[in-house]
Amino acid sequence: MIIDCHAHLDERALSIEDQIKKMDEEGIEKTALIARITETLEPDKSEFLLGVQRQMMNSNILRKIASLVSLTFYDSKGVLRPIWSYFTDDKKGYTKTIIPDNQSVASALEKFPERFLGWIFINPKVHSSPEDEIEKWRNTKGMIGIKVHPYWHQFPLRDLESTARRSEELNLPLLIHMGFGDQGDFKWLVETFPHLKIIFAHAGLPYYKSIWPLIQRHKYAYVDLSSAHLSENFTKKVVSILGADKCLFGTDSPYGITGEDGKYDYGHIKGWVDRLNISEEDREKILGKNFEEIIENSFS
Ligand SMILES: [Zn+2]
Repeated sequence: MIIDCHAHLDERALSIEDQIKKMDEEGIEKTALIARITETLEPDKSEFLLGVQRQMMNSNILRKIASLVSLTFYDSKGVLRPIWSYFTDDKKGYTKTIIPDNQSVASALEKFPERFLGWIFINPKVHSSPEDEIEKWRNTKGMIGIKVHPYWHQFPLRDLESTARRSEELNLPLLIHMGFGDQGDFKWLVETFPHLKIIFAHAGLPYYKSIWPLIQRHKYAYVDLSSAHLSENFTKKVVSILGADKCLFGTDSPYGITGEDGKYDYGHIKGWVDRLNISEEDREKILGKNFEEIIENSFS
């Protein structure tokens, strides 16, 4: 079974019916959805910019510069500062979603239970009791884990203490997109919660090769291969270093990779995995088998 382990539900960019059509075209049976991350639609970044970013994050020195620049992007309300709006497509900028709309994902699961799984999106800055938010959704059929985004929502990893503890207790995997500095204290996370299954989004962005040795060592750590932040060559490198057992297919749909129809190109990242020079057994692991094993006990 092919499963996309990391996608967003953002019907302004891709309706759920169109998404199912695209999944069918690529033979993708299920997609694990996360609530949308912007109030206004996020403009695409250019290939060039993404390539520069990737190089920077893979270097310990340049990552510090990227970290400082990233602090200037948004104001405290999550609105992109005017200077940066100039670099977005329509120059209007955009606004982050601060309160994750978990209801939207629950509704999609009810409507298409055969095609979708769901992540409960926690922001400790607005969910004063993450345990309550997890409790509210975890019995919705198809909810399989917890998503957190310390970079986007700007909080130190240690603010995830109660979220991570509850995830570990319930055996729900944690999908995390880290930020810089204390927003990326991955050592603390794996050492404090040794039995928590952790999927580091986008191959460990923004740490990449600096976090890979830890992922190799830690039994319950994985990466997803989602997003235009990666490239075909970079994906080859990640899989050859970490091995197929540690890598999960994901897209980050509908953000980042636009096809000829102006909508998300669902086959793009799958093409990277299809063309990897690995055994069919390993390909099956990356495309779904690993993820199926991770979420085995989380089906409610
Ligand atoms: Zn994402």
